[in-house]
Amino acid sequence: MRLSHITIQGFKSFAKKTTLDVTHQVTGVVGPNGSGKSNIAEAIRFVLGEQSIKSMRGKTGTDVIFKGSEHLPALSRASVTMVIDNKNKTMKSIDTAHANQDLAPFLVYDELTLARVIYADGTSDYLLNGAKIRLKDVQELLSFAGIGGSAHTIINQGEADKILLASPRDRKESLEDALGLRVYHMRLNESARKLERVKAHVHEVELLRKEIKPHLTHLERQVQKIESQEEERKKLLVFLEAYLSREEYELAVLRERIVEQGTSSSLLLITDSIRKELELLKHAKHDSHTGGVAEKQTLQAEMRSLFERRDQITKTLGRLEAEKIYIEKEIAKQKENKDVIIPHNDFKDIYKTVKNKFEIIHKAFATSSFNEAQSGIKDILFFLESFFTKHAIHEDSNHESYHHSKKILEQDIKDHEEKAQKLEKDISIIEEKISMIDMHTQKTIQTKHEEEKKIMILESKLRELESTIALRKQEEGEIELRKQHFDALLQEGVMIVGREVLSYTNKIIEEKYKIMPKHDLLRAIERSKLRIEEAGIPNRGEVIAEYKTTKERDEYLTKELIDIRDSEEKLLALIKELTSSLEERFSSGVKEVSKVFSEFFAEVFVGGKGKLTLVDLIKIDDDGNQIVEQGIDIDVSLPNKKIKEISMFSGGERALVSIALLFAMSSITPPPFMVLDETDAPLDESNARKYGVMLKRLSEKSKLLVITHNRETMNHCDMLYGVTLSVDGGSRLLSIQFKEAEEYVQ
Ligand code: ATP
Repeated sequence: MRLSHITIQGFKSFAKKTTLDVTHQVTGVVGPNGSGKSNIAEAIRFVLGEQSIKSMRGKTGTDVIFKGSEHLPALSRASVTMVIDNKNKTMKSIDTAHANQDLAPFLVYDELTLARVIYADGTSDYLLNGAKIRLKDVQELLSFAGIGGSAHTIINQGEADKILLASPRDRKESLEDALGLRVYHMRLNESARKLERVKAHVHEVELLRKEIKPHLTHLERQVQKIESQEEERKKLLVFLEAYLSREEYELAVLRERIVEQGTSSSLLLITDSIRKELELLKHAKHDSHTGGVAEKQTLQAEMRSLFERRDQITKTLGRLEAEKIYIEKEIAKQKENKDVIIPHNDFKDIYKTVKNKFEIIHKAFATSSFNEAQSGIKDILFFLESFFTKHAIHEDSNHESYHHSKKILEQDIKDHEEKAQKLEKDISIIEEKISMIDMHTQKTIQTKHEEEKKIMILESKLRELESTIALRKQEEGEIELRKQHFDALLQEGVMIVGREVLSYTNKIIEEKYKIMPKHDLLRAIERSKLRIEEAGIPNRGEVIAEYKTTKERDEYLTKELIDIRDSEEKLLALIKELTSSLEERFSSGVKEVSKVFSEFFAEVFVGGKGKLTLVDLIKIDDDGNQIVEQGIDIDVSLPNKKIKEISMFSGGERALVSIALLFAMSSITPPPFMVLDETDAPLDESNARKYGVMLKRLSEKSKLLVITHNRETMNHCDMLYGVTLSVDGGSRLLSIQFKEAEEYVQ
């Protein structure tokens, strides 16, 4: 890579845009004091990403912006642009193993323009080919370009012997810088930072895992319980399926049998109809019986009355017959005797007859048989009339009267005989009626017997039915109870094992459950239910979901931990690799620098010896541990002088030693360019010549920008720029080039 040119605008005294061609081997910058020469070195320091304002002789960042003069206004921004020729693509060939991916796209360009701009508000931007990049990218880019930090590339006025006065550790750092090992340090630091972050992350993840561990263990146990519950549920499902299908079958068989034998309600309907029939039967029996009895009683009473009347008529007929016989005798007697004598027996008879008649009448009245009473009264009158007529006839004309009485008697007998006949007829009618009634009664009784028999049968049937109904009700009740238990079990089953249990009818039941006694099956169900209940975990779904999430989180953390540990290992490997590369390159670099330093030293101090040595430095770290660090010591001996302490060297000697060392350091990994700001200032003429020789050697490897007042040094320049302070108050650059001065300001 080649530095092409530098453009400064608004930076310190360079108000106007000024371009400095740095393509020559040695470019000199000359000019009077205060003209702005050092400002050029600082402009280069600025664009290289210098962070120390002090090293640019300012207090704040904005101090580098042109502050204005009598003739020129103050500016609001300062910018420095460095143009790098990348046609040979050396940038691309840089150790890309560790290349910054943000820079990679730019490394293919033929020209790289690195710019730094600072604004009045103190903010600043870094631009690579116009695109904003970070300071880190700038540092890496420069590191790749071998420019390293500005500390080594730009040696300020009076800073030359800084390297001599530095501590072995600082010297080591400067040497590493010069050897281009800064990038390793950057990488190491970055890796160490990453490692710290990774370790913190590991710690964080481990903490998180530790935190969730007890919860996860708890959830694991819960889930195990749930799983064992699941097992038990499966068992319960099998038991339930076996039990329910068997019970359902048995209930169906029982129901069928009951329907076949008659349900209690159907039997009740039969009993109702039997009861109605019984009712009817019992009612019918009462009517026929009472009707027949009453009629017969009436007829019998009538009969008795007819008998009595017949007897009476028979008696009357007997009397009339007797009377007739008597009259006939009297008639016969009269034929012999006309006197009427009333025999004593007649008198007794009439008395007896009348008395009997009265008794009959009395009875007839008593039984309200008025016809009978009336007939009795008529009989009495008839007897009395017959008696008096008989005896009157006897008195008046007994003879005639006896004939007359006889006629009447005969008529009377005839009437009575007729009456008797009629009575006989009536009696026979009634007797017929009674016999009819008896016949009917007989039939009724027979029917009654049949009905009673039927009633008996029906009643016994009713009793039998009632007991059957009671039994049936009991059976139906049992079936109902079993059905209720069945339904409750099914419902409970759905709640415990889910709706799958409802498909029990479609399941094939294992043989062993088919033959297992049902009460054992039921006991197994109860035990299973109890076990599930005991292991009961509320919110199963939530627990499982939470377990899943926690487990996933734990797995994620575990994976993350593996990944982080993997990157930790990679980082450690990288650190190891970088450290060993660094150590290797450093130790070989130290040897090389020491060799070149010895040569320079011998050249500058003829007969003198100089070399670099690595020393171990003991350091106590923050934790009180001893750490061994390496440092660089400078061993020198001047010809004909015993002193070895550099501090005891003269200023010119010190300047030469330090320049020799700086030049030696730069010669191993030569930077593309170096800025030497009046490093030759303390040298006398003879030493300036020696300086010039070293400058020449150094310029073979690096382009040099030399700010000097020294003529000897100027002799070694291929190109000279003169800096003047213009009348407007800004610095101006004039190319001298040992030719006619040419204004280079645009
Ligand atoms: P010497 O030979 O004495 O070392 P020099 O040529 O190196 O001098 P510089 O130190 O580069 O000179 O320049 C100093 C000049 O720059 C001073 O005149 C100073 O006023 C001017 N200067 C510094 N900062 C600013 C600024 N921000 N704005 C304007 N001028 C500035």
